[in-house]
Amino acid sequence: MLRKNYLMAPGPTPVPIDILLEGAKDTIHHRTPQYLAIQKKAAEGTQYLFQTSQPVFMLSSSGTGAMEAAVANIAGNGDKVLSINAGKFGERWGDLCRVYGTDLTEIKLEWGTYVRPEQIKEFLDNNPDTKAVFTTLSETSTGTVHPIKEIADIVKNTNAVLVVDCISGILAEPIKMDEWGVDVIVTGVQKGFMMPPGIALLSFSEKAMELVKECKNPRYYFDIRKYAKGHPDSPFTPAINLVYQLTKAVEMLQAETIEGLWERHRILGDATRAAVKAMGLEIFAEKPGNVLTSIKVPENVDGKKIISFLRDEWGVTFAGGQDHLKGKIIRIAHLGYMSKFDVIVGISALEMGLKKFGYDIEMGVGVKAAEEVFNKEGV
Ligand SMILES: *Cc1c(COP(=O)(O)O)cnc(C)c1O
Repeated sequence: MLRKNYLMAPGPTPVPIDILLEGAKDTIHHRTPQYLAIQKKAAEGTQYLFQTSQPVFMLSSSGTGAMEAAVANIAGNGDKVLSINAGKFGERWGDLCRVYGTDLTEIKLEWGTYVRPEQIKEFLDNNPDTKAVFTTLSETSTGTVHPIKEIADIVKNTNAVLVVDCISGILAEPIKMDEWGVDVIVTGVQKGFMMPPGIALLSFSEKAMELVKECKNPRYYFDIRKYAKGHPDSPFTPAINLVYQLTKAVEMLQAETIEGLWERHRILGDATRAAVKAMGLEIFAEKPGNVLTSIKVPENVDGKKIISFLRDEWGVTFAGGQDHLKGKIIRIAHLGYMSKFDVIVGISALEMGLKKFGYDIEMGVGVKAAEEVFNKEGV
């Protein structure tokens, strides 16, 4: 049978044809008024999507580049910082903070769980000289969402800045940078922004910009002062054709409105969770979000084999578990360029795949549950 590809991993996500085509345009020189107008349009669109009036800077890197830039510009040798580690990406904040020689305390949580805001409050009460708190909106390795608004309410009354990895979470999970008082947001475009990989975005509050100016860390390519100086002009050659694509992406996303984006992802998440429960499966995350649904692999099923089979034989790419969760969970994304029928495809593939791999399931129960959610929502 023809193998058509369906990308349902939490990054990279499917790219709409209109965005792909935008990248096929003639590469023009970046020090021209024509190009600058394009860069400006992309930068303004991202401001809206970040819900901030602060400039949003563009780096030519994957999302991790923006994570490194955030640490490199804020905290270094001996600076007291706190990071929340409840999975692969929270762990990355800790790795970066160690590389930059900070005085790091990690709140290590079991994968799948989320941080209680009181844990952060307690640390900050006892350590008023803390410079920054690093955490994650959607912990993509587990599908859990941390309560960022409540955390921001705590951190904004302290000397510390709140830095949030929103690489997978932004656009799928509510976050309002200015209104909530989040100091730094970092993301990459190959997830909710429906783009091919290659651009990272990040923004700093005024409070965080003060730290950027004072910071003693050596930095060059990721020196945010360079990006702030001529913004939205780029200090180095930008990823020109990707920026064309970003203008198209923000145009499409803005047309949907930020509330519309949150609502669409909420409905896709609800439908997926309903389907999973109807199939008699268990959701892994303690507080599952709308980026992806992580599902515990049933006892008698080989979790690694089913994922490669679905991808290589049927063309449906889900993500497996990382590190100690390899083979134990299946992660189905409903992020970015996704509609209700993408969920139906994903759930149908999961049902058929599980059946093939020996899980006793009645065909269609998950699909039916998802359809019922869509009908109830009137979408
Ligand atoms: C994907 C992801 C990253 C890593 O981003 P890259 O673009 O691969 O560097 C970091 N954090 C989270 C939460 C992610 O989902």
